[in-house]
Amino acid sequence: MIKDIKGLHHITSMASDAQQNNRFFTDTLGLRRVKKTVNFDEPSVYHLYYGDEKGTPGTVMTYFPFPNMMPGRPGVGEVGETQFSVPKGSLSFWSERFAAQGVGGVEADTVFGANRLRFIGPDGDGFALVETADDTRPAWVGEGISEEVAIRGFTGARFNLHDTAATEELLRFMGYARTEADGNVTRFIIPGGNGADRIDLAALPNTPFARQGAGSVHHIAFAVETREKQLEVRKALMDTGYQVTPVIDRDYFWAIYFRTPGGILFEIATNEPGFDRDEDTAHLGEALKLPSRYESFRAQIEASLVPIAA
Ligand code: ZN
Repeated sequence: MIKDIKGLHHITSMASDAQQNNRFFTDTLGLRRVKKTVNFDEPSVYHLYYGDEKGTPGTVMTYFPFPNMMPGRPGVGEVGETQFSVPKGSLSFWSERFAAQGVGGVEADTVFGANRLRFIGPDGDGFALVETADDTRPAWVGEGISEEVAIRGFTGARFNLHDTAATEELLRFMGYARTEADGNVTRFIIPGGNGADRIDLAALPNTPFARQGAGSVHHIAFAVETREKQLEVRKALMDTGYQVTPVIDRDYFWAIYFRTPGGILFEIATNEPGFDRDEDTAHLGEALKLPSRYESFRAQIEASLVPIAA
C-alpha cells in the first residue's frame, strides 16, 4: 500500500471564458489567483490557478478556459462535485452573497452530518461549500470576505461512478480508508492528510457517462511531498498494473498521470517547487508566466490571449 499521498494537490477543470472564470473565482469565491500561465500543449489557452496565499497543495483549483467551449454533460466517470471547506456558521453569508451575485444552483443540504451549500460555477461546474469545524488552514482574505467565513481550501471531491468497487480498491491502495456510507455515497479519508483529505464515491448505476466540456473536471491531482516519493508511488502503481506516464515537469510541480478504472484521470503531483518558483509570494498570479519553451513566442502568445483583470 502507498503511504505517501497527503490528500488532494489540485483539481483542474475546463471553462468557456477566461474573464468570467477569473471573476468568479477571485471576486465571488474570494480565492487568490496564484498563477497566470498557459496550457503546456496549447499555449493560446490560459492555465489559471486559484488558491490560498501561496497556492498550498490542497487549495488549488485550476482552469483551462477554452474560448467558446461547448458545455460538458454531467454523468458518470467524472468528478461530479468539488468541495470547499468553510468555517462553521458561514453558510448564511455565502447564501446571501450567491443570491446577490446571481450564482446558480444554490441549494442547502446536509451530508455526513455537515451543513453544505451546493452551487454551480459559470459553466455548470458542480461545487459545494462544506462547513468544517476543525480546519486550521489559514484563509486568503480579500474581496469583502472576512476570515470568519473565507474558504480554507478543498475538503475533497465526489466522484460519480457506475460502479465503485474498482475505485474503492484503488483508493485503499493509495492509503485512503473507508469511513462511512450515506445512501449511495461512500466516504474515504486519508489519515494524516493536508485537509483536502476526503473522497466520496457516488454509485449511479443507471446514469449515462459524462461528456467532457466546459464545466467538467479534466483531472484530479493528489499530493506527495517530493520527487523521490513520487517515483516510489509511480513504481507502486505500475507494479499493481496501472499504466502511468513518465514524470512531467509542470514548472510549479512534477506530475504523473494515470486513467482510473472508473474513467477519471488521476495525477500525482509534488508539493515542490511551488508557485513562488518564478514570482514573489506578494505578486503571485499577476504577470503572465510562460513555460520556458514558449518564452521566445511571448509576443504572439500575449496577442492571442484575451486580457483578464488583475
Ligand atoms: Zn494537474
